[in-house]
Amino acid sequence: MGLFSKPIKTLDDLFIHTLQDIYYAENQIIHNLPTMIEKAENPELRTAFQNHLRETEVQVKRLEQVFQMHGQPVKSVQCAAMDGILSEAREIISDCDDAHVRDAALLSAAQAVEHYEMTRYGTLIAFARQLKREDYARLLQQTLDEEKAADQKLTSIGESRINRLAA
Ligand code: ZN
Ligand code: FE
Ligand code: FE
Ligand code: FE
Repeated sequence: MGLFSKPIKTLDDLFIHTLQDIYYAENQIIHNLPTMIEKAENPELRTAFQNHLRETEVQVKRLEQVFQMHGQPVKSVQCAAMDGILSEAREIISDCDDAHVRDAALLSAAQAVEHYEMTRYGTLIAFARQLKREDYARLLQQTLDEEKAADQKLTSIGESRINRLAA
């Protein structure tokens, strides 16, 4: 258990904890995407990041809605996994001298972010259904669909351009 975190006793507690975790993660993504947009050389990659930044702002609002519906304060718990993914990304990106190779690194870092999010939203949806909250599940599914679409967009940009230019 973390130093200041509450013990997790029930599935409901675990649901709330996971909500707080992804709330932290989404906010860190909002914090880091502007730098990734700046560093991206390829216009398609840049546009994909810009679009996903706007989507992420809506995703944060959706999470706030779920907190509210569940009678919980909007709260974050530090997500060591997202911190790790983002710090690894910053490190590798700053080590890239070539802009094309840097784009490939940015793209691969962004896909690691999307995959973390996909696991968390998938879990939250399963927990919501178990807790008989189809209303939460529907909201969270909208975000999961956006994360999957963002990931697929990145895959197609990588396969069609970025990886070839980096090679
Ligand atoms: Zn996100
Ligand atoms: Fe997200
Ligand atoms: Fe986490
Ligand atoms: Fe995302």
